Amino acid sequence: MISSSPSVAEYGLFIDNARVPAEGGPLDVTDPATSDVWARVPDATPADVDRAVTSARRAFEEGEWPRWRPADRARFLIRFGEAIADHADELAGIQVRENGKLLREMAGQVRLLPEYFTYYAGLAQQPSGTTNPLHLTGMVNYTVREPLGVVAAITPWNSPLLLLAWKLGPALAAGNTVVAKPSEITPVSTLRLAELAAACGLPPGVFNVVTGLGQPSGSALVAHPLVDKVAFTGASETGQVIAAAAGRGLKRVSLELGGKSPNIVFADADLPAALNGLVAGIFGASGQTCMAGSRILVQEERYDEVVRRLGERAEAIRVGDPRDPATEMGTVASPAQYDKVLRYMEIAKEDGARLVAGGVPAKVPTLPAGLFVRPTVFADVTNDMRIAQEEVFGPIAAVIPFRDEDDAVRIANDTRFGLAAGVWTGSVQRAHRVAARLRAGTVWLNNYRKTSYATPFGGFGHSGLGRENGPDALRAYTEEKSVWVDTGQGVTDPFNPRA
Ligand code: NAD
Repeated sequence: MISSSPSVAEYGLFIDNARVPAEGGPLDVTDPATSDVWARVPDATPADVDRAVTSARRAFEEGEWPRWRPADRARFLIRFGEAIADHADELAGIQVRENGKLLREMAGQVRLLPEYFTYYAGLAQQPSGTTNPLHLTGMVNYTVREPLGVVAAITPWNSPLLLLAWKLGPALAAGNTVVAKPSEITPVSTLRLAELAAACGLPPGVFNVVTGLGQPSGSALVAHPLVDKVAFTGASETGQVIAAAAGRGLKRVSLELGGKSPNIVFADADLPAALNGLVAGIFGASGQTCMAGSRILVQEERYDEVVRRLGERAEAIRVGDPRDPATEMGTVASPAQYDKVLRYMEIAKEDGARLVAGGVPAKVPTLPAGLFVRPTVFADVTNDMRIAQEEVFGPIAAVIPFRDEDDAVRIANDTRFGLAAGVWTGSVQRAHRVAARLRAGTVWLNNYRKTSYATPFGGFGHSGLGRENGPDALRAYTEEKSVWVDTGQGVTDPFNPRA
């Protein structure tokens, strides 16, 4: 429903460093803690998307940005980070209003964002090419890395600015121009970020934002012939569609997708620490993280104890106003997500899982229209149940017993996903042994849900393609060019250039 409240903020698209009206009609942005509409953004049409991409292309082909010295691009990124720090409360507050995650967590993410940009500022100034020893004499060969062109950055709603920074930092550091398409649930934070970038001196067209639904806005962006790379974070099913569409244009593509990550507790684990890690893994952010430790594998000797204690911890979690510092779990982000979480509670019961905690919506008297659910634990799950194989993206733990190390690894790897895994054990040998056998892009040993700009993140299998963050992040936003120089000898045999 469209609210007639005067406090509803109207936004346009952000193109050429200005808010511009769109051809596409308005979309409501709703606060999931109150169900109030508080902003409206355009649902960009293909013509709107074309305008944004054309602007980014122009900025790439004719503008100064790709030709800025790396030191100057780095200086911009540092300045941009400082502006984000100066607006941290505002940016965190917008995201909470968009997705209902805890202000605590969103504020922590925003406080870290400047470091993402300073990290890429550093990488921008590192040597990037090679000189290559040849089988030929009288020739020199070197490589240079050049920006790709226009990058389409398509992001989900769960951590809108952090997941955008993973793309924006390296894309800009390498000299690309960007068109971002945030989730329709969380568009305002990205629009605001683009305004800050413009205020920090980013040339027009280098960072444009189109808002709108996956169809038509997102798909028009992916299909646009002037886009060179699609950097996508979102659901695996959407990733498949995007990869196919990008493939038709032979665009570069990176995909950060879903997960059903195992969090494995061996009998020799430090149990209080492991329980904290289990709670962080599946109830942190209401379970709405791609890396959620949604399958909890517990060795038989400690199984009953872990199930009981995890159930107690889940029941004790304070669900409520995401802005209240005492709250431990906020809302789920949207009505669709709310329905999905409740549906999976029923599916798990129907499939024979044993409900240990939660399993119902949560009532928060001060926020009666909020999208709250109780942290939920299902025990006696078998790995073939839907609750163990399908991503819920909500606060539902599926606890599965295992016999020994081989059994744990077999169950952990029996999934189409491969984003992350946790291992809790007192044995350093076992920790590394199991880490080596897990098919996952990230393995946490006696910790969970840590990420950093300094280390790669991405998935095996249906959890994605490529890696973000880490020292190689910049390379994924470049083309490599090999340059041959004749230093005197020339090609002696015109019909055998390899001689
Ligand atoms: P989603 O796939 O529905 O949407 C993600 C983005 O893609 C949105 O901006 C959406 O509008 C857009 N989109 C949808 N259809 C499109 C299409 N056909 N063409 C182009 N764009 C399209 O995902 P979501 O519900 O916003 O986010 C939740 C999902 O994201 C979960 O599966 C989660 O695991 C995943 N995720 C992954 C990571 C990671 O780093 N691996 C991080 C966070 C979230």
